[in-house]
Amino acid sequence: MRIVLLGAPGSGKGTQAKKLVDHYGVVQISTGDLLRAAVSAGSELGKAAKAAMDAGHLVSDDIVLGMIKERINQPDTQRGYILDGFPRNLAQAAALDSLLNSLNQSLEAAILLDVPFEDLLHRLTGRQTCASCGALFNLYTHPSAVSGVCDVCGGELTQRADDNEATVSHRLKVFEEQTTPLIAFYDSQGKLTRIDGTRPIDEITEGFHDVLAGLKR
Ligand code: AMP
Repeated sequence: MRIVLLGAPGSGKGTQAKKLVDHYGVVQISTGDLLRAAVSAGSELGKAAKAAMDAGHLVSDDIVLGMIKERINQPDTQRGYILDGFPRNLAQAAALDSLLNSLNQSLEAAILLDVPFEDLLHRLTGRQTCASCGALFNLYTHPSAVSGVCDVCGGELTQRADDNEATVSHRLKVFEEQTTPLIAFYDSQGKLTRIDGTRPIDEITEGFHDVLAGLKR
């Protein structure tokens, strides 16, 4: 399985990717997660990416493509991967196609999680992540049973630095301007499917299973 998850920040890509990983035994490749890990580690790459991330801009294509190339070439991608948050613009999508061509691979599908713009601001500013196990919660739409405590492992729930209102508005604008052209790009390749991202989490996952079952292997 080799798929791209398309969707605005807050559309639920990360939540669905984690469920698909558990179900299909493939890996999730999230450029946002890779970049946040580089920032926490204080690496040169992390230092170069931090300012853009804090402001809600895109990190340069060079950095992101270098990271993707290295990650896709690792042995745990043999059974397939779900690209989450990459590509983010047309240049990255074209570079991905050439990279996969050179590896004799191709994308099977691009699946768009469709969520109305008005819902996204709320979803993003309420988002919480467990610092220990990475489980995702939301203060408004999917709260933990005990405030600030992870239901899965009891870890502490934290908010991402870029989930504040000012940065979120900018990230949504960047999505609109730079990432939405990918919808037409993958549609013209006959690879695009849309899933209604406002439905309950488990129904959305069922929608993914239906789409994935229909792919030619
Ligand atoms: P995400 O976790 O996918 O919302 O990404 C968080 C931030 O990381 C974004 O706001 C960007 O600054 C950066 N980022 C993640 N993926 C990419 C990408 N494919 N291209 C450029 N910047 C990215």
